[in-house]
Amino acid sequence: MNDAKTIVILGGGVGGVVTATTLRKKLPRRHQVIIVDRERDHLFAPSLLWLMTGQRSARKIRRPLDRLTKKGIEVTHGEIERIEPEARRVRLADRSPGDDRGSVRDLDADYLVVSLGAELTPETIPGLAEGGHNFYTLAGAESLKDALEDFNGGRIVVLTATPAYKCPAAPYEAAMLINDYCRKRGIGDRTQVDLYAAEPGPMGVTGPEVSAGVRQMVEDKGIAYHPEHQVAEVDARVRWITFDNGATADFDVLAYVPPHCAPRVVSESGLVDDSGWIPVDRNTLDTRFPGVYAIGDVTGIPLKMGKPLPMAGVFAEREAEVVAQNIARDITGKGEPASYDGFGECFVETGGGKAGFGRGNFYAEPTPQVKLYKANRRWHLGKVLFEKNWFRRWF
Ligand SMILES: Cc1cc2nc3c(=O)[nH]c(=O)nc-3n(C[C@H](O)[C@H](O)[C@H](O)COP(=O)(O)OP(=O)(O)OC[C@H]3O[C@@H](n4cnc5c(N)ncnc54)[C@H](O)[C@@H]3O)c2cc1C
Repeated sequence: MNDAKTIVILGGGVGGVVTATTLRKKLPRRHQVIIVDRERDHLFAPSLLWLMTGQRSARKIRRPLDRLTKKGIEVTHGEIERIEPEARRVRLADRSPGDDRGSVRDLDADYLVVSLGAELTPETIPGLAEGGHNFYTLAGAESLKDALEDFNGGRIVVLTATPAYKCPAAPYEAAMLINDYCRKRGIGDRTQVDLYAAEPGPMGVTGPEVSAGVRQMVEDKGIAYHPEHQVAEVDARVRWITFDNGATADFDVLAYVPPHCAPRVVSESGLVDDSGWIPVDRNTLDTRFPGVYAIGDVTGIPLKMGKPLPMAGVFAEREAEVVAQNIARDITGKGEPASYDGFGECFVETGGGKAGFGRGNFYAEPTPQVKLYKANRRWHLGKVLFEKNWFRRWF
């Protein structure tokens, strides 16, 4: 009897790599573990913040996905053009989006794991892409680094284009790291850093105490914080931002977090609900389709307090471990069922070789229970170590 199963994992980011590697360790070799991504490299996104201030190179923060083949994982590169969750079938194209040439093939799965992350859509805000640097991408973080090197004083604006985005700490860290970078370069006295946020406060899901704590960290650096400023348009020619509330701001350098949405292939698949994201069982990450799981940024997990679980790598990683365990158990009959408990943590880089740290239970009810630890050198070293261990552990 041929009982060999095929597990197809969509996305070679955080969730995908962790799912594939964990599954490969748990499953006998006759079962096939396939990971699919359009990119050749896995990027460690948290380090983009260090790249933009010249503390990392692109080479240091990415690894070829093909390295996973050494572990017995099949790595397939291509554009995922269609997902049929009912049939657990995926259409894969060896071509770039919109290109009619190139080959197309279908992959059939016994188990399908969707970890395709969030798509970034700066083009939905007039002038944003032309006027600023999208530091949520490698290219944008690199162009921001160049702009900061050329910068000799004036106003730097860090902006969040919508209230919900991955890694809610990142723009706050970015503002503090940029501020620190200018100080170190000796141009601090002629530099003003402003942070315009669409949201009412930092890291809102973590509760008022943590939010106030992060705001304090930012303001202690002399960064001017302007919450509830929804960008309407950017005039790149005269470097001018207009907000929905009528406010305006000029800038010399603009670093922004773009709007996010589910990748088009996901929203067209029938997997998403009205929220625009994939609804899942918050403990098992099952979708409504048998044998199909979704993890990480592409999911929408509502919390009792009215906001969804934030998008962050820490959640994608833990959800991936749960899904891998449960698929392996389903196939082999071994081990205990796993359940994601909502725990997570994050570092908050404040510059000057220091970081704060937030940790807690995001599934706690009625509100998440998260504690923020004061910034010190230890947490910063913890983040450096986390980066090192990430590559050691998964690549
Ligand atoms: C600047 C920055 C700092 C961050 N810092 C932190 C942090 O300190 N801590 C933390 O927990 N999180 C952090 N994050 C967030 C974290 O990186 C994401 O939450 C995490 O990567 C989500 O994992 P994922 O697997 O859901 O998606 P991703 O890691 O985004 O992976 C999705 C993959 O799917 C691929 N893909 C998408 N569509 C297609 C398609 N149609 N065809 C083929 N391939 C496709 C993409 O190429 C990508 O490789 C940060 C993010 C940024 C941008």
